[in-house]
Amino acid sequence: MTETMDFNAPESAQDERAFLRQLENTFAKLPNDIQLYFFTIKGRDDIFAQATRQVVRAFRELSDRISFKEYYLDHELAQKWNVQDAPTLLIAPDRYQIRWLGAPMGEEGRTFLEALILVGLGRSNLSDQSAKVMQRLDSARQIKVFVSPTCPYCPQQAINGIKAAIERPDLVSLEIIDIQARPDLAERYSAHSVPQAYANDLIIGKGAQQEEVFVASVKDLEAQTIFIPDSDAELVETDLLIVGGGPAGLAAGIYAVRSGLNTAVVEKEVLGGQVATTPIVENYPGFTQVGGKTLVDIMVTHALQYVQIFKGEEVISVEKGYPFEVVTTRRRFKAKTLLLATGASHKQLGVPGEARLSGRGVSYCSTCDGPLFKGKQVLMVGGGNSAVTEALHLLHMGIQVTLTHRRDTLRAQDFLIQQLKESGIPVLWNTEIEEILGQERVTAVRLRDNKTHQTRDMAVDGVFIAIGYTPAVKLAQKLGIDLDEDGYIRHDGKHRTNVPGIYSAGDVEGGYKQIVTATGQGSAAAMSIFEDLINPYWKQSKA
Ligand code: NAP
Repeated sequence: MTETMDFNAPESAQDERAFLRQLENTFAKLPNDIQLYFFTIKGRDDIFAQATRQVVRAFRELSDRISFKEYYLDHELAQKWNVQDAPTLLIAPDRYQIRWLGAPMGEEGRTFLEALILVGLGRSNLSDQSAKVMQRLDSARQIKVFVSPTCPYCPQQAINGIKAAIERPDLVSLEIIDIQARPDLAERYSAHSVPQAYANDLIIGKGAQQEEVFVASVKDLEAQTIFIPDSDAELVETDLLIVGGGPAGLAAGIYAVRSGLNTAVVEKEVLGGQVATTPIVENYPGFTQVGGKTLVDIMVTHALQYVQIFKGEEVISVEKGYPFEVVTTRRRFKAKTLLLATGASHKQLGVPGEARLSGRGVSYCSTCDGPLFKGKQVLMVGGGNSAVTEALHLLHMGIQVTLTHRRDTLRAQDFLIQQLKESGIPVLWNTEIEEILGQERVTAVRLRDNKTHQTRDMAVDGVFIAIGYTPAVKLAQKLGIDLDEDGYIRHDGKHRTNVPGIYSAGDVEGGYKQIVTATGQGSAAAMSIFEDLINPYWKQSKA
């Protein structure tokens, strides 16, 4: 049925007749009626209303499965389905939450045809992978897809939205918004190029996305660029299991598989670790400057060519042995060796108000939360590369930012210090935060000059903290792995920990903590593991 329909316009009159016959057959086989409800304003019969009627009439001639009813906006049904603007077309509103703001004209005729067929089928036709993602959705999504009749890329994105709304009618609502019919909404959402998709008013896609990428973006409420297939396997057996999908873990994955080791990566949070939320990475070899998320996408795409990645899975327990038995939140692994590339997590100031107001003005991620502070006053805390990079990033976003540092010199690179000077960002030297103030949200900070010991309150809307990282060693500690005096995993120079068969790489080992050193440590660890698996040193020591 739909699988064999070609939605492109026929080229000759003969093709057109064949196309119409095929359409009639398709509609005749649909198991469900397709009710269309159209809402207009009395006395305002614009081109969009007229076009909608014409398009619907053409389809109704092909099938009596389609019913069409038109009402004015003051009708009780408009109230029932919360229709506030016109023209608005509702598609099967008793079953789905799909509405069209504008008219299904031009390129959007394709979208409309596919919407009718899918609604008639009562099936989303999402791929198995996409359907699985949608089935895991546990809260409502209001999707808006901005389109225009002259945009050939728009139907793909609008159809993604329709499929999502049909797959989860309980949680997903969809508005297809024609920017010509609704310039007010296009302006409000800054949808100046189409297609553009939003979920719960957050941008989730610019341009047409692959279906799996679209549904992942809907679920995560964030534009995704890569789709990582899900696995149903309950038990995965590997030579090497890498815990952590940051630069070290991904590089290790690539090198291990290239050495012939059957390898998997598990990552409990975001792939790329800290890099994913770094606004700009400077001088990762090959790139003078590159966005953190872009660099991560490049690395993940590369790694996926070799290694299976299990995202959103946390290691719960590890039973030592040969192989190790690892239980994650989703499945079990049997792995001959383990590599801990668990990275590091944001350091906290530990001052009153910080934990209470976290997420309410206190943030550790300028890329994630910066846009919420446009036009507002914020404080950036720290004196390293991160604090300076992020302060500059916030300034570029139109935020009034002040940097505060506990000493009178920064530890950031000279190049960044120069950029900071040129930016005009005010710096409060020798200044520490004593308390973060505010009831519901951050309203001020209490600052202390550590030379004069004087305190004062400064009104701010937000506090961004970038004071370094602490190694993520919870799992290592559970496994009895030795840590050094600074809390990093101790290893023998070949990335072997004190526990035979368990290795480490990246920021969790301490050292320079650059992306390039993390990838270096990851690849070196993979090669060391390869050598040890050929000739296991732990077996030798037992012998
Ligand atoms: P960092 O280099 O460790 O700097 C932390 C800063 O926070 C220091 O200035 C430190 O002050 C201050 N600080 C620490 N604890 C504090 C506290 N309790 N109260 C107030 N201030 C405190 O951390 P980072 O800037 O996050 O950088 C981490 C690593 O990533 C570094 O190796 C860095 O080079 C790297 N990085 C690289 C790039 C790049 O593009 N290449 C970008 C960002 C980060 P003191 O100076 O007084 O110790």
